[in-house]
Amino acid sequence: MPDGDATRQGRALRSPRALRSLRTPRALRDAGLLRAQDEAGAEAVAERFAISVTPQVAGLIDPADPADPIARQYIPDPAELLTAPHEVEDPTADAPFSPVKGVVHRYPDRALLKPLLACPVYCRFCFRREVVGPDGGVLSEAELDAALDWFARTPAVREAVLTGGDPLMLSARRLGAMLRRLAEMPHIETLRIHSRVPVADPGRVDAALAAALDVGKPVFIAVHANHAREFAPEAVSACDRLARAGVPLLGQSVLLRGVNDSAQALEDLFRAMLRARVKPYYLHALDPAPGTSRFAVPDAEGMALLRSLRGRVPGHAIPTFVRELPDGGGKRPVGA
Ligand SMILES: *Cc1c(COP(=O)(O)O)cnc(C)c1O
Ligand code: SF4
Repeated sequence: MPDGDATRQGRALRSPRALRSLRTPRALRDAGLLRAQDEAGAEAVAERFAISVTPQVAGLIDPADPADPIARQYIPDPAELLTAPHEVEDPTADAPFSPVKGVVHRYPDRALLKPLLACPVYCRFCFRREVVGPDGGVLSEAELDAALDWFARTPAVREAVLTGGDPLMLSARRLGAMLRRLAEMPHIETLRIHSRVPVADPGRVDAALAAALDVGKPVFIAVHANHAREFAPEAVSACDRLARAGVPLLGQSVLLRGVNDSAQALEDLFRAMLRARVKPYYLHALDPAPGTSRFAVPDAEGMALLRSLRGRVPGHAIPTFVRELPDGGGKRPVGA
């Protein structure tokens, strides 16, 4: 389906299905997003992995479509309880590269800061699914001080990359204070935030948040989205507010079976990003986190899909297809 139609369909589907985020199988069922016979299986998944579907995302799901690409990203499935032999808890092997709690330093010139582990939505394919959740992982004031102190005394680091969880779940006041402290360090040249908030909970992107991003140094935001329909009008407005606040926007996606594993779906996604002023940056191959194998697409198939986009969409609509190497090797372009 052309993405224009997808967007229109997304709007037509929007209904007051949910006023608050849906965080339990029961709530999903009451909202018509989970069949009664699937509730017990979803309960078993909920004991191990967090669930959240925002009203924005709930409004994008077509409950009549059993293969809905939005539902597939967020609605729990009993298949998540089966860990395939190659699946591992920390697929990107961050742990050995953590000098202090909340920091991951793998590349000399940039480091991750994970101030919290909560997200607006919990993606069923998340590579950090063993640790993300609503009540886990906020750094205490002392831990945050220690993490920021590490940045202050590590002058080789020129970029601070805020991730998590989702840093835009913090209040504008706390986020702004954190960004200012980093921006004041002479060796920090750029800041980057990885977030699903602009598409999953666009109402959070308000004037206070935009003001908090104004710290005198460039703040890039990498927006995580995997389907054109996620760029509903509210999401496009949120991206627009960020762009007008001077924030360059990058797109991050994961290649997912049943969500975006066709040339048409990828074309629609990347064109939707460009319309929202988001430059497609990375298309990630799925990391082998537990219970995610239903989303896997072989690398050769992914490479063929990306090749098919050459000439079909503008060059700047094409991201780099990357995979995290096991054992902490970092990101590597697939096929290179
Ligand atoms: C992905 C990642 C980064 C950022 O990598 P870029 O290629 O600059 O986007 C930085 N540190 C760690 C540990 C990462 O996993
Ligand atoms: S928003 Fe990111 S960190 Fe959070 S569940 Fe989804 S993929 Fe994981």
